[in-house]
Amino acid sequence: MNTHTTPDMLVSIDPSNGEEAGRVPITTIDELDAVVARARHAYRTSGWKDLLPHSRSAVLRAIADGLEAEKEALATLQMRDNGKPLSECRSMVDYAVGAFHYYASVCETLETDVTPRRGDYVSLTVLEPHGVVAAITPWNSPIMNDTTKVAPALAAGNAVILKPSEDSPLLAPELLRIALAAGLPRDMLQVVQGRGAIGAALVSHPGVRMISFTGGTSTGRAIGSMAGSRLIPAALELGGKSPHIVFADADRKHAVAAVAAGIFGSSGQSCVAGSRLFIEENIYDEVLAQVVERARRIVVAAPDAPGVEVGPLASFHHRDRVHAFVERARAEGGRVLCGGRAPEGEQYAKGAYYLPTVIDGLPADSRTCQQEAFGPVLVAIPFRDEADLIEKANGTPFGLACGIWTENFKKAWRIGRALDAGSVWVNTYKQSVTTTPFGGFKDSGLGREKGIDGLRLYCQVKSMFFGLHEKPLPIAK
Ligand code: NAD
Repeated sequence: MNTHTTPDMLVSIDPSNGEEAGRVPITTIDELDAVVARARHAYRTSGWKDLLPHSRSAVLRAIADGLEAEKEALATLQMRDNGKPLSECRSMVDYAVGAFHYYASVCETLETDVTPRRGDYVSLTVLEPHGVVAAITPWNSPIMNDTTKVAPALAAGNAVILKPSEDSPLLAPELLRIALAAGLPRDMLQVVQGRGAIGAALVSHPGVRMISFTGGTSTGRAIGSMAGSRLIPAALELGGKSPHIVFADADRKHAVAAVAAGIFGSSGQSCVAGSRLFIEENIYDEVLAQVVERARRIVVAAPDAPGVEVGPLASFHHRDRVHAFVERARAEGGRVLCGGRAPEGEQYAKGAYYLPTVIDGLPADSRTCQQEAFGPVLVAIPFRDEADLIEKANGTPFGLACGIWTENFKKAWRIGRALDAGSVWVNTYKQSVTTTPFGGFKDSGLGREKGIDGLRLYCQVKSMFFGLHEKPLPIAK
């Protein structure tokens, strides 16, 4: 765990040096009723959902400005909270600023459909908020995951209860403080802190009317079951084991760099990490050697060190988990071509560092090729032809993303259409912008965040009909 718990506090530990990064009070189950009651009260009485769109947008833009004004402090806090390189943390604050601006614009410009007068009635479609939304997030990118949910949920008029991960609890209170300073009515956004139990209590609370979850597949399954039994909607953004594919006709230099960035960026702690490398058989040895060479040259260092490419893992506990994954791969017969251990040296002694690791020699249906490591671990697999590739690449329960490197766009189209993936990247990787829908196929999730879909997620659709009849309606048609 990244945190030490005192009976009433979560203490976040900086994984680059083992020092305390900050602490937050834990919300008790007993306090939850009052939190939900305040959210319901604010939803009904604050007037937020009934504001004209441009007034709601003005507050969302003020939140964006508040985040931007504190960019350096927020980026530094996230770096200390979960160990990501400072430059990445800065981009994540930029993302958060962009998300609030984007949903401010969507809120102002989105018109629902109005059908013309048909006979003696007109109809229109209205988007209504759900009410109180529970937003539950993981530890890997707190400011990004939190704002991906909070910005559209507020834009749609909901009250939001945000439950960040117990392993990165420090950013959510800052977002709340900035939102209140920007003019968001009190209790339209609240934060609850704690481990899974408080999240479970939140999703089963009768006052919560919609759940938006990002995290592991098994947690997502439990939340989805709870939502199903309560008949409330749940958007689930879950895990992945995404294929990154290099064909013989690829731009080799760019492909190798992207493969390395796609898995080792964020120390592999990204849901869309390209963790399975598929290489066309006739270039397998050559490309694999280039990837391994690139992995060996990656600068692993403290997250604020000049030139750092990969920082520590988010917690010591997680590093142990990643190492256990690599040990299991060895036991399965995998060849560890580089990494497979913590780096040596005084500068790494106090942090949760792990070397970029490349493994091969395992069949596509082995445990190592099937399960998510959520760390800097790449497993390489050769493929014979397109049919062989599609069978192997689709042969996991996941379906989050994929990358395809080829100069043949018809082939890229064919493969992209055939793969089970919510995001397909051709000759690029990990591009994700607020304006484009994002989510998973199969066990990688349900629903789409971001883009217009990301606002509709937080709305229920109502059809309204206005009768203009001069005469009484007949009983039946
Ligand atoms: P996790 O599922 O353990 O926890 C996520 C959140 O859920 C935490 O806040 C946790 O406290 C809470 N939680 C745990 N049990 C709960 C329960 N029963 N009911 C309600 N809430 C509960 O995931 P994690 O370890 O924090 O994050 C890593 C996982 O997240 C990886 O599998 C990764 O792929 C996934 N992830 C997915 C995306 C995506 O967009 N698809 C993005 C980032 C991370």
